[in-house]
Amino acid sequence: MKVILLDANIPDISIEKKEIEKHIFFTFLVDGISRACSHQLVRHRPASYSQQSQRYVSMKDFPYVKPGSVKDKFILFENKKISFDDVMSFLGDVYESFVEKGVPKEDARFVLPNACATRIVFTMNVRELIHFLKLRTCNRAQWEIREMAIKMLKLLRTEMSEIFSQVGPGCFMTGVCPEGEKTCGKQAEVVSFFEKL
Ligand SMILES: Cc1cc2nc3c(=O)[nH]c(=O)nc-3n(C[C@H](O)[C@H](O)[C@H](O)COP(=O)(O)OP(=O)(O)OC[C@H]3O[C@@H](n4cnc5c(N)ncnc54)[C@H](O)[C@@H]3O)c2cc1C
Repeated sequence: MKVILLDANIPDISIEKKEIEKHIFFTFLVDGISRACSHQLVRHRPASYSQQSQRYVSMKDFPYVKPGSVKDKFILFENKKISFDDVMSFLGDVYESFVEKGVPKEDARFVLPNACATRIVFTMNVRELIHFLKLRTCNRAQWEIREMAIKMLKLLRTEMSEIFSQVGPGCFMTGVCPEGEKTCGKQAEVVSFFEKL
């Protein structure tokens, strides 16, 4: 996964801190995340998104994200031992066979998996970034979007440390874990990680 800070729009106005958060925008390019991850990202509404289309690009040899947990794992299918990579390759062949039979790419793509890699550009203001990062840097967030959020936070801390050095998961920002019974129980470790990031 590549996370690139493409642009920052920081108006030179002197208004109070809470107000300026609405007027500063950052634009990111994220390349090589799964569709499972981008689906979670676009649930965050106060933002603008542009995502690579699957309607026109051929997805025969589609790039994909492989979770660490499936590495070296095999499943038995019709008495054959198959890996995650075998499934991806099979789905690419199924997709291509439909396209060869005249099925439009926009329909053939229905067989493609959540693992398909995508590229997305998005713009968020500082208020939304703080909200997003608080939720998605938390240990409760899914690993891929958490990895992406941590990379974004690192870039933002370099760009605007006066705001983003205070930003991280809920426990880091407030001293209290907001997850109740679902807490990861590792508050001290998490706080120390985000202090040193
Ligand atoms: C750990 C985790 C697990 C999750 N699990 C699931 C799940 O199982 N199923 C599922 O469907 N989703 C799940 N989500 C997604 C979650 O429900 C939210 O959709 C997502 O986190 C977006 O956050 P948000 O709604 O707080 O705010 P955003 O969309 O980021 O908006 C920020 C804030 O703006 C305000 N706002 C934005 N739009 C409106 C609006 N239309 N009306 C009023 N106020 C608005 C609200 O105050 C909101 O909190 C999960 C998220 C996390 C972090």
